[in-house]
Amino acid sequence: MNYQGGCLCGGVSIEITGPIKHVMHCHCKMCQKAHGSSFASFGLVSDEDFKITGTTNIRTYKSSKNVSRTFCGVCSSNIEWIDSSEFNEGYRSFALGLLDTEFVPDSEEHIFVSTEVKWGRSCARLEKHS
Ligand SMILES: [Zn+2]
Ligand SMILES: [Zn+2]
Repeated sequence: MNYQGGCLCGGVSIEITGPIKHVMHCHCKMCQKAHGSSFASFGLVSDEDFKITGTTNIRTYKSSKNVSRTFCGVCSSNIEWIDSSEFNEGYRSFALGLLDTEFVPDSEEHIFVSTEVKWGRSCARLEKHS
């Protein structure tokens, strides 16, 4: 398994050399603001399967006691959600929108739906245009 991706300007590149174990679509208020969207989608991978280059472009924002969010300092693409508690030890959560390689998850869930916005819920039923 090999997945490639990167930020909008191309300054930060990621490579995932193992399985993307799980997908979380987070509807918490912080993710809505950080991603400027109704929710944020993250892929969970093992530390050793995650390679990142262009790290000099990366900026970090500590959004809560144990959590930092990284983004490209040039184009502002979200890169990672980093939990410094032992809960997340050995794993990385990256912004799935960075992927350039096609990916179909086996395992995914919505979290923090108590703060789900009202304006995105009908997306699946809306008219689609290419
Ligand atoms: Zn960038
Ligand atoms: Zn969140």
